[in-house]
Amino acid sequence: TLKTTSSVMEQSDRYGAHNYHPLPIVISEAEGVWVTDPEGNRYMDMLSAYSALNHGHRHPKIIAALKQQADKVTLTSRAFHNDALAQFYEKLVAYTGKTKILAMNTGAEAVETAVKAVRRWAYRQKGVPQDQAEIIVCTGNFHGRTITVTSFSSSEEYKKDFGPFTPGFKLVPYGDLASLERAITPNTAAFLIEPIQGEAGIIIPPEGYLARAYELCKRNNVLFVADEIQTGFGRTGKRFACDWESVEPDVYIMGKALGGGVMPISAIAAHDDILGVFEPGSHGSTFGGNPLACAVSVAALEVMEEEALADRSNELGQYFATKLAAIRHPAIKEVRGKGLFIGLELHVEARPYCEKLMAEGLLCKETHATTIRFAPPLTVTKEEVDWALERIGIVFQVD
Ligand code: PLP
Repeated sequence: TLKTTSSVMEQSDRYGAHNYHPLPIVISEAEGVWVTDPEGNRYMDMLSAYSALNHGHRHPKIIAALKQQADKVTLTSRAFHNDALAQFYEKLVAYTGKTKILAMNTGAEAVETAVKAVRRWAYRQKGVPQDQAEIIVCTGNFHGRTITVTSFSSSEEYKKDFGPFTPGFKLVPYGDLASLERAITPNTAAFLIEPIQGEAGIIIPPEGYLARAYELCKRNNVLFVADEIQTGFGRTGKRFACDWESVEPDVYIMGKALGGGVMPISAIAAHDDILGVFEPGSHGSTFGGNPLACAVSVAALEVMEEEALADRSNELGQYFATKLAAIRHPAIKEVRGKGLFIGLELHVEARPYCEKLMAEGLLCKETHATTIRFAPPLTVTKEEVDWALERIGIVFQVD
């Protein structure tokens, strides 16, 4: 049967749960920063699958690694060793500077893994009384969709009618040091934070906040856990967003671009005192650390370095944000961002503007009601950024 945009959307609507509200476009092919619909129309991808596509669509080196590994072995389970996982560990240890890695599949699973790790650490290393461990999180956070992660969301939309929830979490306002200090007790295991809040609308904390929060944690024997799932791997113009304030978190949580836009793979990285809390039987995942995802991830990490994607993101991000900030339009409130992680906040609903941008060939998605996120693959060229700016200029034209 002939696949058209409308037939695919109809099929999806009929049989799929409606837990997303996608733009009315079907992507049937993609390469680099470009995607194509069934009718052959081309669009530039300015979302990058929420930063999972930092390397662009189907990066040739990553696809080659996928094919090569697919011809050898794809799944072993962790009942046996596999060479791709061993190589992945070594690569990610070098990338993060930590001594140990634990591999999972999705971001939310990695967050859950970090929660388990810091709780055990609290009981076994810090001496917190059994079942009393507290984890401090921030308002506006987004760490995933499992029940425990949903339990500490501050968004009613994410929580409504999903209770009962997991206890042991405390919310403090994002960017507010005094509140963090007040929230810390002898039972605090960890402070879990996104160094820049992505889903909340590219919210950048006040300068110096991460470094001071880290110091506060150190003074109180509290672990600083950075969720770099969306901000990691060059997205903000550095290896990790924490690098902007020279903070080396106790635990890195990684996902999305770790899989090179090809395979789901996530991980946490920490030193032995933290990841040493897991013994056989205490945690795991059937697909976690599978050779196919690991081989892909090794290639993705190599591409990060070979193509200096973090530096590209930094340079092009500054260029992009400066040009955006020069656009004068009554609907525009603010441009903010780091690297190619840019939010354009409007005074009005962003969705109609995303639809107009789509009509101009630019795929963006609103995040929360009033912010448009511009986050192209980090492989984007300056010419392509200029092309995008031209389209944005057309949509935000004062007539
Ligand atoms: N943490 C952050 C900061 C995220 O942005 C996301 C996804 O958007 C997640 C966690 C959840 O990752 P996943 O959707 O792979 O479970």
